[in-house]
Amino acid sequence: MARPCCAERTDGRQLRSPFSRVIATGYYDGSTEGFTDCDTCRTVYEFKMLDWDEGQDIRVFKVEEKAGALFDELVEVISTEQDRPRWPIWVPRSPFPVAAEKRIHDLRSKVAGARFLIATEDPTKRILVWRSLGPDEVVEDRGDWLKALGVGSE
Ligand SMILES: [Zn+2]
Repeated sequence: MARPCCAERTDGRQLRSPFSRVIATGYYDGSTEGFTDCDTCRTVYEFKMLDWDEGQDIRVFKVEEKAGALFDELVEVISTEQDRPRWPIWVPRSPFPVAAEKRIHDLRSKVAGARFLIATEDPTKRILVWRSLGPDEVVEDRGDWLKALGVGSE
């Protein structure tokens, strides 16, 4: 089943995910932070969990576009002979190679392009809520984001 391109995604609920590959640099019963790319246009995004429900199933992530980044290049520097990528979710073993740590640091410090919030159990699966963020919209790491996005209260 073809996935929609991230560029076509508008705010809404119960949407198909544009993402099919996740590098989870943080994992706790599911991804907590990492990188993903659009299956169609290959735009790279960094994501970070802001909130989760009591069962830690539904999670809210802040997602930021990292323009010009190449996902395959990131995969290349993180993977080792003993730790080959696996999709849809790859949790690379730490410590990462030095070159990978540097690449990840560079990506994290890159100015974000498009920014949005998603609520989902898994960024590669059904997106319960997708909401765009304005360029100057401040997003606190702490907060009841599930409630703010109207998830779990229906
Ligand atoms: Zn796209």
